[in-house]
Amino acid sequence: MKNSDIRTSRAWIEVDLKALRHNAALLQTAMPEGCRLMAVVKCNAYGHGSILIARELQKIGVQSFAVATADEGIALRRHGIRGEILVLGYTAVYRAEQLKKYDLMQTVIDFEYAVALQKQGIPLKIHIKLDTGMHRMGIPFDDPQAIHAVFAMSALQVCGMFTHLCCADSLATNDITFTETQINRFYQSVAALKSNGLPIPKLHIQSNYGLLNHPHLQCDYVRTGIALYGVLSSPNDKTKLRLDLRPVLSLKSRVALLRTVTANDFVGYSRAFYTARKSRLAVLPIGYSDGVPRNLSNGKGNVQINGYRVPIVGRICMDQLLVDITDTKGIAIGDIATLVGTDAENAPSAPAAAESAGSITNELLCRMGARLPCVPKGKA
Ligand SMILES: *Cc1c(COP(=O)(O)O)cnc(C)c1O
Repeated sequence: MKNSDIRTSRAWIEVDLKALRHNAALLQTAMPEGCRLMAVVKCNAYGHGSILIARELQKIGVQSFAVATADEGIALRRHGIRGEILVLGYTAVYRAEQLKKYDLMQTVIDFEYAVALQKQGIPLKIHIKLDTGMHRMGIPFDDPQAIHAVFAMSALQVCGMFTHLCCADSLATNDITFTETQINRFYQSVAALKSNGLPIPKLHIQSNYGLLNHPHLQCDYVRTGIALYGVLSSPNDKTKLRLDLRPVLSLKSRVALLRTVTANDFVGYSRAFYTARKSRLAVLPIGYSDGVPRNLSNGKGNVQINGYRVPIVGRICMDQLLVDITDTKGIAIGDIATLVGTDAENAPSAPAAAESAGSITNELLCRMGARLPCVPKGKA
């Protein structure tokens, strides 16, 4: 084996930083003048490695980041990420000291939460989340008193106000109408601030699909997650704005074993795969604990080895899976198998693999990376 990098000896995530830079620049260009990209790097940057991704984005001038949890934000700070970091999700109020220490902006997820945070008596930067119809988090848009009361809280410095769209991924007429309703509700709250003489903080509404389907909306930020990683949530998603996004992640492993099984036998847990013919199988030392969905077992998923597309056979195990290489020639131990990658690699795309597994790309990517190293492409 030529390659002796221990990170690529079993299974790994290959990260194409050039594709990342391309996507970031493209998305920034698609935004209106004055609007900035807030890079969503939650959940280990959707499995791509949050430090690796945030550092690269920082190098090309991205100054705003969003995470889901305070710990994700702290990890970025400890690894030298400067600029703004917004915690989008819940943080226990007794962690206010840490939010301040690491200069993290906290989302005010409802009015009671703001009251509890104010009681900590620690000066904090916050963004107010408004509920304009998703009903997950936020102060109701039609409760201006509560919104204005947050501005009056002495410990809380309101740096931003935002909402989240719940059906911006759809181009169906009723969904577009609902998104427009959400946008109007948001600006109704902004107008109420103005008429009360309150300062207008930074405003943001769109995430990835908000930008791609409602590109003319003029905000201070777009919170881009999935598109930054060069993919959409589902393979058949149609968007108003079509950008030449490039997938950043490839999921790779190496052939560990080759075996021959006679015809009329069974393979793996529950003997789920039946060998109708004498079969040659390759064992890949990667499994569902590495993020390969178990739903891709026994013919539902496939992988690329030496240019061949070969089916996953039998049940995917925690740490291994089997592929049928009977119809191939020359596959050897140590050869690289690409489980998720680009069309150019002849590998299954992340959206296609996610769909085969009955999920969306976001979930597929987020579940990777807990055990796998993220290795920049070219250094692999
Ligand atoms: C995850 C998240 C995003 C990013 O969403 P994408 O669809 O991946 O762009 C934006 N805003 C909020 C509030 C989120 O939780």
